Amino acid sequence: MFSRIVFVNAGHDGAVDPGALGAMSTEAGLMMLFAEELQAALIARAYQVLMSRSGPDASNYDLAYVCELANNSGAGLFISLHANSFASPSAHGFEVWTSPGPTKADLFADLIVRNVQAFAPELTIRADKSDGDDDKEGNLYVLTHTLMPAVLIEIAFISNPQEEMWMNDPTFRARVIEAICAAVDQFAGF
Ligand SMILES: [Zn+2]
Repeated sequence: MFSRIVFVNAGHDGAVDPGALGAMSTEAGLMMLFAEELQAALIARAYQVLMSRSGPDASNYDLAYVCELANNSGAGLFISLHANSFASPSAHGFEVWTSPGPTKADLFADLIVRNVQAFAPELTIRADKSDGDDDKEGNLYVLTHTLMPAVLIEIAFISNPQEEMWMNDPTFRARVIEAICAAVDQFAGF
């Protein structure tokens, strides 16, 4: 039975590490916006939400701490929110990561992709993970050290001016969040 508790991790800590830098925003700051808006949307759907941070918070620099918080939370899902970055400003698109091998998170990730295609069709779904981004390996820590189904979402590229603009747009954020919430609902129904 799904606990209806969702743990939301706004990527990076915003105090020590801002994450990737865009022209007008930081990854940590943008993901805090997504996380707060996701929290509100999930609460409106009668989920309980636990957040790894509620603003810049150096404790989140320690991913072991974040995972411990999550593992002690009773959460049935773990969602880590990130923005991607690459040297070339043309790199673009949406990625969702799970830990290697078949897990329950694969179903959740598939549901997220399907809903993002419906609610935010301007995002290209990136199925291949070949082009490099430094924070991927570190962030995957949260997928292998959490006990519940866990996904790490790279919403879009902060290094791409168009996508950075999208992520700064509340209506874009609302559609991405709608997609994630729909996936949570569907996952909870399985
Ligand atoms: Zn990141």
